[in-house]
Amino acid sequence: MAETNEKKKQKPTTVFRNTAWLFSVAWKIAPRFIVTYFICALLNAVWGVLEAWYIKEIFNRLDSGAPLAEILRLILAVALLTILLIAATRTFWDVGYERQQLMLRCGVHLKLFDHAISLDLGKYEIPEFYNDFIWAMNNADRTVCSVLDTLWRVIMRLTGGTAVFVILLDLDLLVAAVVLVSAGIGIVCLAYVKKQNYEYDMACRRARRVSDYVCRVHDMPDYAKELRISEASTVLDKLYEESLGERRSVIGKYKRRAALCGMIWNTTGAIKDNGLLLLLLYQLLITKTLPLGGFALAVTASWRVSSALKTLFNAFTDLSKQSLYIDKLRVFLDTETAVPSGVVQPGDFESIEFCHVGFAYADGTPVLHDVSFRIDKGRKIALVGYNGAGKTTLIKLLMRFYDVTDGKILYNGADIRDYDLAAYRAKIAAVFQDYKIFAATVAENVAGGVCAKEDRPRVTAALNEATFGDRLAKLDDGIDTPLTREFDERGVNLSGGEAQKIAIARAFFRRAAVTVMDEPSAALDPVAEYELNAHIREALEEDTVIFISHRLSTTRDADEIFVLDGGSVAEHGSHDALMRRGGIYASLFNLQAEKYRT
Ligand code: ADP
Repeated sequence: MAETNEKKKQKPTTVFRNTAWLFSVAWKIAPRFIVTYFICALLNAVWGVLEAWYIKEIFNRLDSGAPLAEILRLILAVALLTILLIAATRTFWDVGYERQQLMLRCGVHLKLFDHAISLDLGKYEIPEFYNDFIWAMNNADRTVCSVLDTLWRVIMRLTGGTAVFVILLDLDLLVAAVVLVSAGIGIVCLAYVKKQNYEYDMACRRARRVSDYVCRVHDMPDYAKELRISEASTVLDKLYEESLGERRSVIGKYKRRAALCGMIWNTTGAIKDNGLLLLLLYQLLITKTLPLGGFALAVTASWRVSSALKTLFNAFTDLSKQSLYIDKLRVFLDTETAVPSGVVQPGDFESIEFCHVGFAYADGTPVLHDVSFRIDKGRKIALVGYNGAGKTTLIKLLMRFYDVTDGKILYNGADIRDYDLAAYRAKIAAVFQDYKIFAATVAENVAGGVCAKEDRPRVTAALNEATFGDRLAKLDDGIDTPLTREFDERGVNLSGGEAQKIAIARAFFRRAAVTVMDEPSAALDPVAEYELNAHIREALEEDTVIFISHRLSTTRDADEIFVLDGGSVAEHGSHDALMRRGGIYASLFNLQAEKYRT
């Protein structure tokens, strides 16, 4: 379906609509840049027209035997004007252009970041959407700038070229017609070459993603250990070779056709240039309908007009190509989240209730079915079960990263979909097992953004509660220490357990109404785990907490334990009740206790 879409030829109206849309996006972000930029285009056009007019005037004056002083005055006036125009445009190009363009690019990216964050996680699982998402992130700012560049060239060449073409029309109709027709053939070939290149780009996308992935795996420290102790590199090498093979066959398909058209395009250009010269010589020497001055003017004007037409044609094919890309950007920005925000502001937390909740990811395989349970304020709840039972999925639904497929989740008795999404999420602090540490300072990592001065003591307190205090004391810059060495040589790479404590400190810092800890101590040794659990219990004594852990020693003190099996709640109750029951929980617990004893 998407493949068909990509190959769809764009109508001029679509190209126009897309260009106008992109222009309005850029205008909202950087109006000053756009005004200056297009004034520069007009000044350049004026300069081009001035040059053509000036040559004509010099020849006219020479022809009519005007005094040398008059010709020199004209040359001086034009030289002065040229200096002024160049000074004005150069100031913009050399001083303002790059800075202002960077602001535009930054604005485009911020818009994309905002939109990306507003989407549900299900979007990451739709390969077509994900391709466009990656494309938008990597290329959108460049597309915006190249569309503006194209419009810039259109304005400059259209104004300048039209004026010069009028001179050419006035001089000789046949010459003007030859220039137009040959340029027309050129545009057809050029459009085809560009279309082939676009289709080539699209056809290579998957192969490029595969090869990028393989390169990434090799240069990311996260994978370094696995690569050294496993045979994964043989699989990756094979993937890489296959992706290159795919690209080679794509080159064969698209590039050969593009090369043929390129040849036709170059050949017609050469025929036109030389044919025109022969025509002018014929008029100059045989029919004597063209004076020598007119010959010189015609050569200059024809070169200017044909180069202006070429730029215009290029601009139109560029705009059609860019329009295909703009489509992608529009699709991305128009894609609405599957978890739209409600409007109700959530009140202070009282209860959460899962009512007959069912859920399937994008692949359609049911993960949860008929899950019902209730969590009241101040309770400590544990979700336990085998890997893949659906525990993390339940939390993702609670956080509204996805919406339930069946049933509903209630917060204080009302469907969570009715609440303002940001306000609702702010009520829950979740620490996921696949937490990420950002390349930012310890304080920023804990505060989840810029850390205000008045929040610094709370950051330190949260780190202490997460048992990170001893490690913090050893960091030269304390909470201002940069984490990871990605951008900073002073940066610190933390161990898995230490990084996990930072993630837990985030939850302590946020102090939300409900705290979710998904495998909070998975990366810790038993002593550190015991210490951390004691701290968590103490720090969150009054709070509502949902624990997920496969280590049942961590969850045995919970007020209520829910055992998930095969996507539904198989057992629930206190540790003692579940042990007495002798079901899944009891056998899991005994198995683990046994392991610790041996
Ligand atoms: P648990 O936390 O109990 O280990 P999860 O909730 O992570 O289990 O996963 C439950 C099931 O859902 C597993 O079979 C897992 O493979 C599947 N699953 C998890 N995330 C996704 C996803 N993004 N897309 C498709 N299936 C997924």
